[in-house]
Amino acid sequence: MLDKKLLLGKAVADSLTENIIKDVEYLKNEGVNPTLAMLKVGNREEDSAYQRGANSRCIKCGIEPKIIELEEDCSEEEYIKQLKSLNEDSSVHGILCFRPLPKQIREEVVEDVIDPIKDIDCFSPINMAKIISNDSTGYAPCTPKAVIEILDYYNINIEGENISVLGRSLVVGRPLAMLLINRNATVRVCHSKTRDIEKISQDSDILISCMGRAKMVNEKFVKKGAVLIDVGINFDEDGNMCGDVDFDSVIEKVDKITPVPRGVGSVTTSVLAKHLVKACKKLNNL
Ligand code: NAP
Repeated sequence: MLDKKLLLGKAVADSLTENIIKDVEYLKNEGVNPTLAMLKVGNREEDSAYQRGANSRCIKCGIEPKIIELEEDCSEEEYIKQLKSLNEDSSVHGILCFRPLPKQIREEVVEDVIDPIKDIDCFSPINMAKIISNDSTGYAPCTPKAVIEILDYYNINIEGENISVLGRSLVVGRPLAMLLINRNATVRVCHSKTRDIEKISQDSDILISCMGRAKMVNEKFVKKGAVLIDVGINFDEDGNMCGDVDFDSVIEKVDKITPVPRGVGSVTTSVLAKHLVKACKKLNNL
């Protein structure tokens, strides 16, 4: 019973990986060696954890990972110099800039430097604008795209559904809302100033939480038979990883739910690899 309700990320990631491997083989036969550069400053544990995941996904797919580690106190000038050299390096097809950047490096400066064709995690405002205008030649940020991949893999209808997105950040909530609108959903976006968040959530066929609030979403937020996607990554009072959703409180009511861990988080690096292949094809006119 419980197993039937779980939308596990691994099946989605495996399916994406299978197709990426075929694409990478094709690219290699054409004489192209798909390469992802990861630009990291300092030693934040979150960055290192994501880097390990991205690294092993790349290797699984046959993509070459290239890691550039800069010192914690590296200057904006030095960072931009590195980024420009990756832009110009024809052996590099995609660039992942770990964020947030340290305070001496201004994101609003960097986002205009990264080559939009190599910007596979949507740092550039050009790629963000493409999401808004429903132009599929750009790249969405990997996490919102992972949510769409999960819904599609499990054949959960998006068109015409009432969907609430809890959270409006530039990296998750906002682009996710746009991707859903582009797929003809009716979308409401809630945030910390929203009144009646429980009621709005309760009216939703699909509820997606990306607030970063441990176990805040309980059964009062959920309509019976709803699909619940939990993007949050938090730690409870015992130090265990948990989502925004109070899993035990909602499990009886939901039709389907992504667990944390083993849900959305396990799909993001596959989306990154998929975007890398897309960039590689674009850069080589294939
Ligand atoms: P963020 O920048 O802190 O944004 C959080 C959003 O949630 C904001 O829009 C905020 O509203 C809203 N919010 C916070 N508390 C709220 C409340 N009590 N009621 C209503 N809205 C509230 O976080 P983020 O970077 O988008 O990340 C969100 C979560 O996703 C985090 O747990 C993060 O770790 C996780 N995440 C997961 C993945 C993955 O691969 N699974 C990837 C990235 C992030 P305001 O705008 O009004 O402040």
